[in-house]
Amino acid sequence: MQDSTLNMRLEFVKGVGPNRGETLKKELGLVTVGDLLTYYPFRYIDRTKFYKINTLTPETQYVQIIGRIISKNILGEKRTKRLVVAFKDDTGLIELVWFQSINWVSDQLVVGNAYIAFGKPTIFNGSFSFSHPEIEPYQSAKQSRGNLTLQPVYGSTEKLKKFNLDSKGLQRLTVSVLDQALAQVEENLPQLILEKYSLPDRRSALLNIHFPKDETVLNSATRRIKFEELFFIQLQLLNAKKLRQQKFKGALFAKVGEKVNKFYTEYLPFDLTNAQKRVIKEIRNDTQTGAQMNRLIQGDVGSGKTVVALMSMLLAIDNGCQACMMAPTEILARQHYASICELIGNELITVSILTGSTKKKDRILLHQQLEEGAIDILIGTHALIEPKVIFKNLGLVVIDEQHRFGVEQRAKLWRKNFIPPHILVMTATPIPRTLAMTLYGDLDVSMIDELPAGRKPIETLHLYESQRLRMFGLIKQEIAKGRQVYVVYPLIKESETLDLKFLEAGVELLGFEFKRPDYQISIVHGQMPNADKQFEMQEFVEGKRNIMVATTVIEVGVNVPNASVMVIENAERFGLSQLHQLRGRVGRGAEHSFCILMSGDKLSKEARLRLDTMVKTNNGFEISEIDLQLRGPGDITGTQQSGVLNLKLADLTKDQNILIEARKTVLELFENDPTLEKPENILLKTFLQQKSQGISMDKIS
Ligand code: ADP
Ligand code: MG
Repeated sequence: MQDSTLNMRLEFVKGVGPNRGETLKKELGLVTVGDLLTYYPFRYIDRTKFYKINTLTPETQYVQIIGRIISKNILGEKRTKRLVVAFKDDTGLIELVWFQSINWVSDQLVVGNAYIAFGKPTIFNGSFSFSHPEIEPYQSAKQSRGNLTLQPVYGSTEKLKKFNLDSKGLQRLTVSVLDQALAQVEENLPQLILEKYSLPDRRSALLNIHFPKDETVLNSATRRIKFEELFFIQLQLLNAKKLRQQKFKGALFAKVGEKVNKFYTEYLPFDLTNAQKRVIKEIRNDTQTGAQMNRLIQGDVGSGKTVVALMSMLLAIDNGCQACMMAPTEILARQHYASICELIGNELITVSILTGSTKKKDRILLHQQLEEGAIDILIGTHALIEPKVIFKNLGLVVIDEQHRFGVEQRAKLWRKNFIPPHILVMTATPIPRTLAMTLYGDLDVSMIDELPAGRKPIETLHLYESQRLRMFGLIKQEIAKGRQVYVVYPLIKESETLDLKFLEAGVELLGFEFKRPDYQISIVHGQMPNADKQFEMQEFVEGKRNIMVATTVIEVGVNVPNASVMVIENAERFGLSQLHQLRGRVGRGAEHSFCILMSGDKLSKEARLRLDTMVKTNNGFEISEIDLQLRGPGDITGTQQSGVLNLKLADLTKDQNILIEARKTVLELFENDPTLEKPENILLKTFLQQKSQGISMDKIS
């Protein structure tokens, strides 16, 4: 491939030079001409319309006017020094004013000549003026690309502007390399796909994303480029999945044996929901193929993921394997351990726990038991990943993820066995479909989209500070019924001391209202010693305390079915998924439960939307979609994971349809041509081969 222009460093482009080249790299990460070609405008100005001066109103936004300069004068002294240009068309006169670069601008302008002035009119002393308009000679503007159509607007920075690389400057730079660069751009999508989805070819898409002549070509160029971005991500994800299925055998869980049956008939205290049954069946199917299972279970708080995980682990045990379950925090690991022990006891199987705080003596014993196969299920934190932890025969790994474990860590667990264990990832709160398809695009996805029967929905109230007494009243009423109450304060990252202050002030206030010995209060926050934390929590869990005041440490922690009220203080400071997660702490028993969101009177638009959403719905899937709209994909995942979300144009919040289309296209592609042997698919095969040389499979998959 002849690609000298695309790979040429920008500093060698005529008129750029080392300084501007370096600044482009530092400020925008643009190194080569190819980079510049994919530095897309973020909006466009319609330069096809011209306005007449007599149609301007005080409300008029940015417009352009064709006129002639009839005079130019430099007025004022020092601070008030300015260039004032009288600009006239056949309907009237306006002033163009500059306060900076006065001499330079003045030198460019010739009285008597025609120009196009672009700016936003303001009224001064009853007449309109433009301050610091863009101005260009009428003739040359007509010839310059992008100036008389939809003009691209590029993101720039203060530093770049100093180098004359504002949006206009970037536009000029792009124009200067465009034709030469485009000539070297090669199509990277098969013709059949372009035809099927009516996508323009790559060259014209790139031309039209920068310099569209109208809205129609812009839209199809945009769609093509987004499709391309999403297509290649899906191609990598689904290819990795395919390779893994070919390469990695999984333990065969051929039979449903004694332990599953016994648990199901003798231990299980409730009927499974249809959703739970369906997901268990999906897992059962996966583990009978001989290939490694990689499945994501999405289910709302309280949808009953734990029992699904347990039954899957029993399936592994029935087939001669061990299982482990990994949680992101120690508290959560302990919680899982407790719930699993409660469900199954310690007779049918042996369950152990391993975390960072497991004592060395216990640890040594545990390692030994594990290796001998005396432990069936090991629950823990990322301590499980350590090389010292060796299983006799690990068949299934359950990861309770909450977006905290990276792809790398998942991979480490696979290597714990000769035959890689099956992987079941559970998300604590649902993530939007588009994100799941991208972040977990290499996994199969199961949804537990049904809550266990008889669960009464949680009533969510949003109260202002002035309604605090109502909140106190509700708490008292619930405590009188024997219920327990959480009061949660936000964790403010910038200042733990400030957190504590909030919490302490809150505790004092509560102390007035809820006096001993009638009321007992537990206090739990991040700065207290672990042992104290455990003790306070335990007291609450055992029902010895009525109220637990806490910072967000309880978010993923305790399971107290008797708790029926969740008060969230400063609720406007929490993100949506966090609020939903917290709310999930109540409503675990069959009682009517409440979630009370306390907020200040002044709310930002977004905060209001978050609180309104909470009041309106209990559905985690719905909430996750709104959360994604509000925060964008990067924030939701916490990290910009492995570049998967490095999208230049496509937006996972808005381009769901294109994403679905792209994924479907890749699925069809692999179906028709699994090894991409057909001539029209060779370029895709080459792409994947190049990628796999650069990125190891663990990284993509
Ligand atoms: P999550 O999906 O949030 O992890 P859990 O697995 O902790 O949910 O389940 C929440 C509660 O619901 C637990 O007390 C669990 O025992 C109970 N539960 C789970 N499945 C059912 C069911 N099918 N019927 C009734 N209760 C159930
Ligand atoms: Mg859970």
